[in-house]
Amino acid sequence: MNPPAKQFVLMLEGVNKTFDGFKAITDLNFYMDEGELRTIIGPNGAGKSTMMDIITGRTKPDTGKVEFGINTDLTSMNVPEINRLGIGRKFQTPSVYIHHTVFENLLLSLKGPRGVFNSLFARTTSEQRDRIEAVLKTIGLAAKADDLAGLLSHGQKQWLEIGMLLAQQPKLLLVDEPAAGMSDEETHKTGELLLSLEGKHSIIVIEHDMTFVRQIARKVTVLHQGHVLCEGTVDDVQNDERVKEVYLGRKKKN
Ligand code: ADP
Ligand code: MG
Repeated sequence: MNPPAKQFVLMLEGVNKTFDGFKAITDLNFYMDEGELRTIIGPNGAGKSTMMDIITGRTKPDTGKVEFGINTDLTSMNVPEINRLGIGRKFQTPSVYIHHTVFENLLLSLKGPRGVFNSLFARTTSEQRDRIEAVLKTIGLAAKADDLAGLLSHGQKQWLEIGMLLAQQPKLLLVDEPAAGMSDEETHKTGELLLSLEGKHSIIVIEHDMTFVRQIARKVTVLHQGHVLCEGTVDDVQNDERVKEVYLGRKKKN
């Protein structure tokens, strides 16, 4: 019998994606362990969001393998199917129901796609309440549970949206530039929130803000021209000459 192959929560192997002749993703190999908090950095246009589109089924790769857990081929599945497997994605701009309370927003995401009216008026079980209370604590919004989501600050809306994903108990959470538009204090709190999720979920965070990356960094992957340029600790990648050239060096000139 063959020894069991190392099992990754997510594996992309030999992935390519071309848009009108432009190679957005080139021979991309990416492996992630269960429970990992992984940060992906890279200059604009490096293919970071396209990589998330491929994982979540919004974009189909031209070639390559995309697998979730043991032998679950994501390339043959659509967006809702992939979501149901336990892959949640947080886009850059928060999309919460502004006319509903924070609690109701969490309730809606927990109950799934049954329509706002049905979800809010169907009986809420004590298990559902407990789960929402736990999420409220995790995202630091317990005191705001009965406030309308539309009244939250930008940062609080972002945390609520992370909470809405957490209510669905995802195995893998993809978070695209969570600190964009946040104050320094909100950014720091976001880092603490993501760190508190480590080990409970597998998480990929795409981020530009290097102070924030330093705060949350475990293993960092640098993407460049749709390919992994290097991987390592934040110090490893910041000291890598190729990275300085393509990313950090370029940023300093701006
Ligand atoms: P990043 O998120 O790292 O800034 P993206 O993944 O958004 O980069 O984009 C990578 C490259 O692919 C960019 O040059 C972008 O213009 C191109 N691209 C992404 N999505 C599409 C699309 N749907 N159609 C055409 N080009 C696209
Ligand atoms: Mg992007």
